[in-house]
Amino acid sequence: MADKRDYYEVLGVSKEAGTDEIKSAYRKLAKKYHPDANPNNPEAEAKFKEASEAYSVLSDDQKRATYNQFGHSAFDGTGGANGFGGFSGGFDFDMSDILGSFFGGGGDIFGGRGRRNGPRRGADVSYNMQITFEESYFGGTKDVTLKMVENCPTCAGTGAAPGTTAESCKKCNGTGRERVQQQTMFGYMSTERECSACRGTGKIIKTPCETCAGKGRVRKEKTFQITIYKGIDNGQKIVLSGKGEPGERGGPNGDLIIVFYVKPHEYFVRNGLDLHIDYPISFTQAALGDEISVPTMEGTHTYTVKPGTQTGTVAHIRGKGMPNVKNNKAVGDLIITLGVTVPTKLTEKQKQKLKEFAEEMGSDVKEQKKSWFGRNK
Ligand SMILES: [Zn+2]
Ligand SMILES: [Zn+2]
Repeated sequence: MADKRDYYEVLGVSKEAGTDEIKSAYRKLAKKYHPDANPNNPEAEAKFKEASEAYSVLSDDQKRATYNQFGHSAFDGTGGANGFGGFSGGFDFDMSDILGSFFGGGGDIFGGRGRRNGPRRGADVSYNMQITFEESYFGGTKDVTLKMVENCPTCAGTGAAPGTTAESCKKCNGTGRERVQQQTMFGYMSTERECSACRGTGKIIKTPCETCAGKGRVRKEKTFQITIYKGIDNGQKIVLSGKGEPGERGGPNGDLIIVFYVKPHEYFVRNGLDLHIDYPISFTQAALGDEISVPTMEGTHTYTVKPGTQTGTVAHIRGKGMPNVKNNKAVGDLIITLGVTVPTKLTEKQKQKLKEFAEEMGSDVKEQKKSWFGRNK
């Protein structure tokens, strides 16, 4: 590791180079030295690896800062960066990831992604979980039963009937890959793709396992206990790491991703951490004032309506809203919008009283009218 070239030198950029400059410098080198463009050229391959390694460090802000401080010793585990977490295990990067990030996903332009017939991460499984408004407020746990793909227990995922073994594919000699000539934007290239005979597995199953019909995988019902965190909102998710589909050829499992859908509440509407509620009061309560009992998620809250309250008056009640999912001590407000209701059915006696009231108010009403018209003349 001691004779390693400086990463900046490898890419031909200055120490102050920005992300775009580093990216374009690497891209040029990658095109020039890519093994598919330079078959059987160990020198080009070495240069390609060197550039990819330099790029993987300099394109990552954290790794770049560590490299600037400690140099190569930061990544080879031979000292210099003792106590620095994260990189002590030596240098590790996945070429296909770097290429994929350039050429939009597959990296197919260079003929296949990833290591030949190598480990593959299992697929992520996403599940939309409906919960009630109350569950999102109080939190809790809920069991969910899903049909999950897993390795077949009969054949241990091999797909071959017990007592038999899969044979090595003759077309690809068990590598799972075949080479084909292909026209690409870089010219005519020999590229590699999944073997068409064994579909990339490198194996041909003569006697398929009966349980899984040779697939090596079965669907099985599995129950998961899902934690509903207090305050979780519509569309938020939790990731159960490694609980997705099993990886292939020793690759890691995928994740199970639970996306929450919160059913609307009959009265409360959530906005951020605040809960909104429309609360009707009678016109006598509005005029004379009253103590009202407003519903909250945990019971009721007594609120004093001031005499002369107008319809549409908004009151904030602190700390009666939704808890923050990340910090339950932070709680939103309950926001009440008071609506003054006008009675539609009146008894004769009530009508009489209101008429008396109107007469009593008579001059006031007329004066209000006058000033309103006066203002709008
Ligand atoms: Zn099986
Ligand atoms: Zn094959």
